[in-house]
Amino acid sequence: MKGVFPVGKFADLQTPFYYYDTRILRQTLEVIRQETNKMERAVVHYAIKANANPQVLRTIREYGLGADCVSGGEIKAALQAGFSPDKIVFAGVGKADWEINLGLEHGIFCFNVESIPELEIINELAAAKGVVANVEFRVNPDVKAHTHANITTGLAENKFGIALSDIEKVIALAQQMEHVKFIGLHFHIGSQILNMNDFAALCNRVNELLEQFEKHHIKVENINVGGGLGVDYQHPNRQAIPDFQDYFKTINSLIRRREGQVLHFEPGRSVVAQCGSLISKVLYVKQGTNKQFAILDAGMTDLIRPALYQAYHKIENISSELPMETYDVVGPICESSDVFGKAVDLNQTKRGDYIAIRSAGAYGEIMASQYNCRALPKGYTTEDLL
Ligand SMILES: *Cc1c(COP(=O)(O)O)cnc(C)c1O
Repeated sequence: MKGVFPVGKFADLQTPFYYYDTRILRQTLEVIRQETNKMERAVVHYAIKANANPQVLRTIREYGLGADCVSGGEIKAALQAGFSPDKIVFAGVGKADWEINLGLEHGIFCFNVESIPELEIINELAAAKGVVANVEFRVNPDVKAHTHANITTGLAENKFGIALSDIEKVIALAQQMEHVKFIGLHFHIGSQILNMNDFAALCNRVNELLEQFEKHHIKVENINVGGGLGVDYQHPNRQAIPDFQDYFKTINSLIRRREGQVLHFEPGRSVVAQCGSLISKVLYVKQGTNKQFAILDAGMTDLIRPALYQAYHKIENISSELPMETYDVVGPICESSDVFGKAVDLNQTKRGDYIAIRSAGAYGEIMASQYNCRALPKGYTTEDLL
């Protein structure tokens, strides 16, 4: 089965472009809202780095989510989309001074701090402004997520977070500083995680740490478990909405929260991946020696995941109902890695057909580049095309 696309509305648009199915996005957000309401003291911050399309951000904000930012630019995008500063958290190993100042000026909810030097700078910059910055410490839990090596972040060897063995020392340091306030712990073990055992392993670590802290009379108000829930790239129609029920239930039931502790989540990919497709046109069908190529006007500059992570995306010819044939689907960029899929079955394809590359709503448009002096792809939601 193919996805449903308003192909008639595409005629006036310059390809390639991203198309966001607003109905799927809203259904996904509705499920998140319902599942969040089932938990006590739970807050969901959408990880803006997955997709910062202004219309998509505004829709996400409408459903009451906060924003997880990893740069000053993302803080600006969140504010522009109407996210309230007290629902913005700011993470990242390398925050520049201007980015920290931006967060301080807007009074964001908290900084997720990843090192002592960073903590010192936040304290210094907050002192200069006469304010106190809320900080959570990102703990490197040394938990392995069973996902692509480039998107696992919770191992001791990764650059992220503060080592378990150092964390109490860092908290003690923060408690001596006048312009930072320690309010919680932050974790994030990686991305595209589909095995709930990985999240369970994280919860065990969190529990161990909470026990240790309790013994040492360290109070933790907030527990932020990050993001990472994966999506079904093979079956974007069958599983358009990730299993948030299982995900939230697993974490909420396993973490043994102390009185008053607030649980925070930061999903990115799982919120936006399935609503988005990269739409492109076939420029040429080229007969090779042993195979045929469908050469698209979209390339790795528009969607880099296949080239960067060997990621699979389902590809459909949404203009053709002819019998299936097999193609290598490639882009026009001067790189051998500019391939969207090898030996892909498509309805018989000709020049001018529309091709949809599915599940491209996360880490798609936002990762686009201008390599080869190409224009950045635009993004349209169903609502934009009405
Ligand atoms: C990337 C990131 C997320 C979101 O990850 P997804 O896999 O897209 O859900 C959440 N928190 C932090 C700190 C991140 O860096």
